[in-house]
Amino acid sequence: MKNLLIMKFGGTSVGSAERFRAAARLVVEEARKRPVAVVVSAMSRITDLLLDTMRHAEAGDRAGMAANLAQLRSRHEQVCRELLPEERQAAVQAQIGKRIEEFERIVNGMAMLGERPPRSVDEAVVAGERLSVVLLSEYLKAQGTAAEGVDAREVVVTDAVFGNASPLMEPTREKARARLLPLLRQGTLPVITGFNGATADGRPTTLGRGGSDFSASIVAAALDAAELWIWTDVDGIMSADPRLVPDAAVLAEITYAEAAELAYAGAKVLHPRTLAPLAEKKIPVWSKNSFAPEKQGTRIVPSTSQGTTTRAVASLGKVALISLESASPELNGVQVMARALDAIARRNVEVLLVSSSSYRQNFCFLVREEELERSMAALEGDLALELAHHYLEPIRVDREVGLLAAVGEGMQGKSGLAGRIFTAISRVQVNIIAIAQGSSELTIAVVVRRDGLEKAVQAVHAECGLGQRPPVPVFPFPREGGKVPSRGRE
Ligand code: ASP
Ligand code: MG
Repeated sequence: MKNLLIMKFGGTSVGSAERFRAAARLVVEEARKRPVAVVVSAMSRITDLLLDTMRHAEAGDRAGMAANLAQLRSRHEQVCRELLPEERQAAVQAQIGKRIEEFERIVNGMAMLGERPPRSVDEAVVAGERLSVVLLSEYLKAQGTAAEGVDAREVVVTDAVFGNASPLMEPTREKARARLLPLLRQGTLPVITGFNGATADGRPTTLGRGGSDFSASIVAAALDAAELWIWTDVDGIMSADPRLVPDAAVLAEITYAEAAELAYAGAKVLHPRTLAPLAEKKIPVWSKNSFAPEKQGTRIVPSTSQGTTTRAVASLGKVALISLESASPELNGVQVMARALDAIARRNVEVLLVSSSSYRQNFCFLVREEELERSMAALEGDLALELAHHYLEPIRVDREVGLLAAVGEGMQGKSGLAGRIFTAISRVQVNIIAIAQGSSELTIAVVVRRDGLEKAVQAVHAECGLGQRPPVPVFPFPREGGKVPSRGRE
């Protein structure tokens, strides 16, 4: 649809009644100018609370379940009280109650079975998004904006990988257009749940943690939107994590490929899969701060002329390095790699970096700490024979590591950059454990000791000249009787 804007609000941007009001203001302001569809996350920390409730259920901990459910109820009921006018209270509280009861019913089933099947988790966990949709759509209506809540099950068609589903774009396009275009044409603003979808035969799925960004880009692509705005609680995508690098700067513009690499290597603003559905239509994305909407934010585009070599440095602390090594001439290094990666791939574990070399056929790869247990179970299960017969050395795990990734499309074909990055890291006396650079030359990834990660990130950020420039002294303090010098335009 021509001119269509998709706006997505993250958990903190709808974290309280005040934040819902701010989100609605931003929506209404744009909806005056052009058609808008909205995608919302659960309120901040709600998805964690829901998942925790299901863990209590599996363990048969009824008291834990009850405490969590009470919290779920009180947070949403309170927002409803603060947000909606008196005459709408009863109706909206009833809708909230209904969503929570649906969640409760599934959780009770889990408690009875002592089990938490991924399929049921997906069906239940989207309660958070469904509650947000009720609150935002009802508030918009109460403010006089025609709006309708839409469950993304009716819009996004996915495969059946519960907990981490992928969209099937053709059927999604059909469904999304059939459900949403009539609303948009009649001037009704769709408020759609982020995070979820359903298989073609109607089984509820989710797109993975943080998947609402991905939902929004799927909807944007399906409807041929003109733009996607992703509202968060930070000013945009930064040149490094500001908690590690105090002079990290907000990037004005960045490419799809760079943003995806940064997200993958730890930058939190965007889900790494967000940009893939947009590539074909080249739909631009803005990452903006709903707490400071006047700030420009970061524009994410298919390609940019703003040439720098390294755009940003991402980092991840909570990772683990797994190393395998053949112990027998009958098993060569490539076979070890193939079997290990196959074991990992079949469990849907994300591999962040792979590195292999040397006569000893040593091979290592990096996974997120929370996926370590699953990875080890996969390897030890699938490679049990090789391990038992000593074709393989015992698998080694190093948890005291961190990942640093220097990212930039401009690094391509530039010589000397890797050398500068490694030298910068060595200058602060941090040892490099493993390195990788794909032939796309988009990222140079380095594994270092965890306790040296912060220093290494600061060093590389400075070496690549990514910090905020010191403020330009344009306004010298006027001397007594003196004239204030004019700034002079160039
Ligand atoms: N609420 C979901 C999560 O916390 C999806 C999202 O916020 O993007 O993972
Ligand atoms: Mg998010």
